[in-house]
Amino acid sequence: MLELSEVKKAYHSGHEDLEVLKDISFQVREGETVSIIGPSGSGKTTLLGICAGLDRPSSGTVSLCGRDISEMSEDERAAVRNESVGFVFQNFQLMPTLTALENVMVPLELRGERGARKRAESLLEKVGLKERTSHYPIQLSGGEQQRVALARAFVNRPRILFADEPTGNLDSETSLPIVDLLFDLNKTAGTTLVLVTHDLELAKTTDRLLKIDRGRLQEVER
Ligand code: ATP
Repeated sequence: MLELSEVKKAYHSGHEDLEVLKDISFQVREGETVSIIGPSGSGKTTLLGICAGLDRPSSGTVSLCGRDISEMSEDERAAVRNESVGFVFQNFQLMPTLTALENVMVPLELRGERGARKRAESLLEKVGLKERTSHYPIQLSGGEQQRVALARAFVNRPRILFADEPTGNLDSETSLPIVDLLFDLNKTAGTTLVLVTHDLELAKTTDRLLKIDRGRLQEVER
């Protein structure tokens, strides 16, 4: 499902290169749930973006859903993402000028799918936001925005879902139903889950736990 081989990533700022990922190789099998933990600034978001095809590695290869995406153009990667990938960003990245319902409909409309409104409405109901479909992001609480972002990530029926701190900024009461939703998707649809989290309780519930530190990734044995 996902395979990284000798992936490196450096950011160029001014005269210096910041080598964030040093030599990362790992695989995730279809249907697995995996968490990535590590200190702040260790490269978790960078790694997730590369796995999901949002960004390219400086070197090394990334295979996602059976395709080598590391040499693809942005347009080609966008096509793979639209087809098979869901992504929940750390800061939600909802479109401020669209309602909750319209935000969730966007990925389906991009694919020209019929019945987008119905499916988006049913997903918003599933995440407990039936009464909030016509609200704009600014009119929603952080937890509600997070749930809209999750509904949007589910709407494509992705084969693999990447989530960056899905429970970040949420209290345990709000984060529990969100975690349940994620695992429900894994169980019922077989969606592969790759999560970045600071939440050790959440990390412990996934099949595998990977830790990133100083640019390298290690499997944490349990
Ligand atoms: P956190 O847990 O705080 O969210 P993280 O583990 O997700 O952190 P990243 O966001 O991947 O870490 O950042 C890793 C390092 O790369 C940081 O030092 C960050 O400043 C740097 N970095 C991230 N994105 C860029 C960029 N676009 N340009 C330059 N440096 C960047």
